Amino acid sequence: MKIGDLLKKIKHSISFEFFPPKTKEGEEALFQTIKELEYIKPTFVSITYGAGGSTRERTIKVVKKIHLETNLTVMAHQTCIGHTRKEIIDILQEYKNIGVQNILALRGDIPQDKEEKQIFPPDGCKYANELVKLIREEFGDWFSIGVAAYPEGHPESPNIERDILNFKKKVEAGAEFAITQMFFDNRFFYDFLEKVEKENIHIPIIPGIMPITNFKQIKKFASMCGATIPEELVRKLEKYENKPEEVEKIGIEYATKQCEDLLKNGVKGLHFYTLNKSKATIQIYENIKHLLN
Ligand SMILES: Cc1cc2nc3c(=O)[nH]c(=O)nc-3n(C[C@H](O)[C@H](O)[C@H](O)COP(=O)(O)OP(=O)(O)OC[C@H]3O[C@@H](n4cnc5c(N)ncnc54)[C@H](O)[C@@H]3O)c2cc1C
Repeated sequence: MKIGDLLKKIKHSISFEFFPPKTKEGEEALFQTIKELEYIKPTFVSITYGAGGSTRERTIKVVKKIHLETNLTVMAHQTCIGHTRKEIIDILQEYKNIGVQNILALRGDIPQDKEEKQIFPPDGCKYANELVKLIREEFGDWFSIGVAAYPEGHPESPNIERDILNFKKKVEAGAEFAITQMFFDNRFFYDFLEKVEKENIHIPIIPGIMPITNFKQIKKFASMCGATIPEELVRKLEKYENKPEEVEKIGIEYATKQCEDLLKNGVKGLHFYTLNKSKATIQIYENIKHLLN
């Protein structure tokens, strides 16, 4: 099923993001997690891609396995950085051959240890809007295409207004929906939606929810992607830094409140960054499911 079509039909979408594991044990654990989350009947699940192609084979393998061996709708993330057009077309053709119809089209983070011509091959795509255009040119409407959105602005962008104009280029190139970077203060999301609306962008924008289960790890992720963790939450988490169960409890409570507020304010769906674990996502889902129908 195409996610763009599903989003038109259903009231709320629930989706889960996974990364392709490096080891056989990791893969077994991922499919156990998927089994545990399946009862929620997610609208779709998505599999990340290592920018530059570092997870190329693993991403393809996991996407295929989910598509062929479960009833779930799957979306493959695809970054363009470091790839030629032909490499990208070959990967997407593999998906098309087995019937996968959903792609999250991304640029990928710029690696610090590579040369300019490796990062941007002459016949590659420099930005995600060029990747969306390439997919539409080569595959027409076969794929439903999603893109990334940044409620606090992308870290490389001089300001949010400029970033939204670049976001609009992805929509004009054919993106049908967007998923946001993680954020911990819903006001960023609501302000973003207002600005997007003023630019006449009307695709569904699904908030990305990162339940905090490990403070040190999330602090690192958040600083890399420019997501603000509210002071009050930081103080609370710091107090329990050496008590992982307490951190997880606070993280689940916080994400539950965040999701409740988003649902009450009419969001189209919730996309959970699961880090390949099911516990926190299941607890949050159980806390909010009464608001979903
Ligand atoms: C939901 C989600 C999933 C993600 N999944 C992955 C993943 O699987 N693998 C991975 O490696 N990374 C992933 N990322 C991270 C993403 O690759 C990085 O944030 C990356 O730095 C930007 O990717 P983008 O697609 O948003 O790029 P773009 O939309 O190309 O934007 C990148 C920067 O360039 C600017 N820009 C965009 N277009 C233009 C233009 N035409 N001219 C000038 N400037 C422009 C933008 O304002 C922005 O600052 C994900 C992010 C999100 C939100």
